[in-house]
Amino acid sequence: MDLKQYVTIVEDWPKPGIRFKDITTIMDNGDAYKYATDQIVEYAKLKNVDMIVGPEARGFIIGCPVAYAMAKGFAPVRKEGKLPREVITAEYDLEYGTNVLAMHKDAIKPGQRVMIIDDLLATGGTVEATIKLIEQMGGVVAGCAFLIELTYLDGREKLKGYDICTLMQY
Ligand code: AMP
Repeated sequence: MDLKQYVTIVEDWPKPGIRFKDITTIMDNGDAYKYATDQIVEYAKLKNVDMIVGPEARGFIIGCPVAYAMAKGFAPVRKEGKLPREVITAEYDLEYGTNVLAMHKDAIKPGQRVMIIDDLLATGGTVEATIKLIEQMGGVVAGCAFLIELTYLDGREKLKGYDICTLMQY
């Protein structure tokens, strides 16, 4: 299946110069959503993962069905202040300013093999911060999977040494 035909590119959103890749038009097609999920499940099976981790909010949309299909757990990464129990945090740079991500401090058990799943790899900042959180808890990052990779932003450079799978490249 050519998944790209289900991605909608929105010009100049959320600000001028950004070509936003809208994946809701994958999700609203049952066959395309299942196909995309199945591709990532195949990759995650090869990596023998114990646990899926996804950053809010689109990481939940892709990560949760993968966790369900594999009967594995899912741990959310959220912006600071959203999770109810004790958290660990990691900060990363945005174009202007910084962002803080949080996970419950017991979300990952030492030695667990973890796969990070998100909709899109851009600069890699989100995933780099997520890797820090997982490794701080003693987890092993077995791979990172994305529907979309913006190759011109070179996120892979930040994630050197980690296994990455992307279904579509722009
Ligand atoms: P980054 O941390 O730079 O890799 O950014 C990744 C996050 O930003 C992903 O979770 C995406 O949801 C979002 N994102 C960045 N650029 C785009 C884009 N052009 N279209 C859609 N989402 C984007």
